[in-house]
Amino acid sequence: MDKNKLDSEVDKRRTFAIISHPDAGKTTITEQLLLFGGVLRSAGTVKAKKSGNFAKSDWMEIEKKRGISVTSSVMQFDYAGKRINILDTPGHEDFSEDTYRTLMAVDSAVMVIDAAKGIEPQTKKLFQICKMRGIPIFTFMNKLDRDSREPLDLISELEDVLGIDAYAMNWPIGMGKGLKGLYDIYNNRIELYHSEDKGQDFLPLNDDGTLAVDSDLATDSIYKQVLDEVELVKDAGNEFDPEKIAEGKLTPVFFGSALTNFGVKTFLDAYLQFAPAPAAHQTVAENKVQPDSKDFSGFVFKIQANMNPQHRDRIAFVRICSGEFERGMDVNLTRTSKKMRLSNSTQFMADTRETVENAVAGDIVGLYDTGNFQIGDTIYTGKNVVEYPKLPQFTPEIFMRVTAKNVMKQKSFHKGMQQLVQEGAIQLYQSYSTGDYILGAVGQLQFEVFQFRMLNEYHSEVVMTPLGHKIARWIDPQQLDENMASSRNMLVKDLNEQPLFLFENEFAERWFADKYPDVKLFSLL
Ligand code: GDP
Repeated sequence: MDKNKLDSEVDKRRTFAIISHPDAGKTTITEQLLLFGGVLRSAGTVKAKKSGNFAKSDWMEIEKKRGISVTSSVMQFDYAGKRINILDTPGHEDFSEDTYRTLMAVDSAVMVIDAAKGIEPQTKKLFQICKMRGIPIFTFMNKLDRDSREPLDLISELEDVLGIDAYAMNWPIGMGKGLKGLYDIYNNRIELYHSEDKGQDFLPLNDDGTLAVDSDLATDSIYKQVLDEVELVKDAGNEFDPEKIAEGKLTPVFFGSALTNFGVKTFLDAYLQFAPAPAAHQTVAENKVQPDSKDFSGFVFKIQANMNPQHRDRIAFVRICSGEFERGMDVNLTRTSKKMRLSNSTQFMADTRETVENAVAGDIVGLYDTGNFQIGDTIYTGKNVVEYPKLPQFTPEIFMRVTAKNVMKQKSFHKGMQQLVQEGAIQLYQSYSTGDYILGAVGQLQFEVFQFRMLNEYHSEVVMTPLGHKIARWIDPQQLDENMASSRNMLVKDLNEQPLFLFENEFAERWFADKYPDVKLFSLL
């Protein structure tokens, strides 16, 4: 690919993740986006969902038939001249460090909120990571076809709880059974609502924001109320500022209903206008690598072990930061300074999981891995060594004491544990007082994967006992007195020999803070 072609290919990329609390509608909106992309041609699942007969297995059936996986990691499709990569952020019982790490590999995020519920805990956690990265965040207030909270209330909660400015791109005209449409502030038009998915229907507005055509809506009291609210929002709300959006300081807010495909296309069109193409990536040496650089580079943000014992292979997910990826290319692995050939790779097209021939900055490729990669690894081509910063570690929230079932098999237990912890999938601690090993993770799934892999890859059966502790807080070793350990906390050290306390709850943490007011405790992200 010559420089111009690469440049224009990279420019077409939009790589994002959807952050939301379970059941807010992430899957439903993803499905709509795939429909727009022509990847899913049947809206069958949408109908099935409407009639209430929807089961997760319907989805799986589609996945099987069409070879796509919505529960899979990356979905790619083309729309309006752009190539869109949606990275999955596992949410339900499979919420884990991987969910957080995925946010390290995207250029923007879409936050889906259930308009009846507002900001929920998982949304808040994921938002914090996006905020830390300073990436643009686009908000979709979903389920307007149901009775929801007042839009003003939702927007002020968003600003107060998340600490980000919001700009309403549109405003609901009614909600639930009384939903009439959207007052589209950004496009200066009204989008009418149809309870069935009948496509879009717009009414133009005059420059002063009043209806430009005859419509029953003009005399509707709800319409008048909306005009007043929109007036208020325009006067007292934030100004639309694409620069602040790009810096992640202002989130454009869209209302709609994913299930009835209402307001989704309006959202997608505006999203594509303001979401960034891949940008330069900062290296450890503080250089910036441009995405259209002729040399390839990327980093591993996730490693997925195959849960099928017949296939011990793993897939390392690489976010391409610069240049072009070609199958069979030779790359350098920065951590080991080793050269390797990337012959076995897949790209996650939404229609088929096909072997990737090439991909460019912004895309994700999956590399079959036999144990060469660790999370956070950089690979690159060219003369100049590239090393991207380590991925952050996230404060675990679930802890388990772990032992080998068979005491005679300590060797394989230790080897397996050491290697799996090295991979970065799970965190390991050791108790000060008993020397017990304690595993920490963000989600339950990591423990199950750990247990499974210990058995299958290292022939070590492990026993895990859940601990009641939920909060991990590090302490400056200078301030540590081992007598601070008590029945209300557990003192452990991490792999770097740094001490930390595990508390059962916030009460125990506060009790500690009251008892030792001069001691400062830290969390990871
Ligand atoms: P996820 O857990 O965030 O992926 O949520 P899903 O997309 O699976 O949606 C959770 C439930 O909410 C499902 O029963 C959906 O049919 C429903 N749902 C999603 N979007 C809407 C919407 O716009 N309106 C209504 N009424 N229900 C919705």
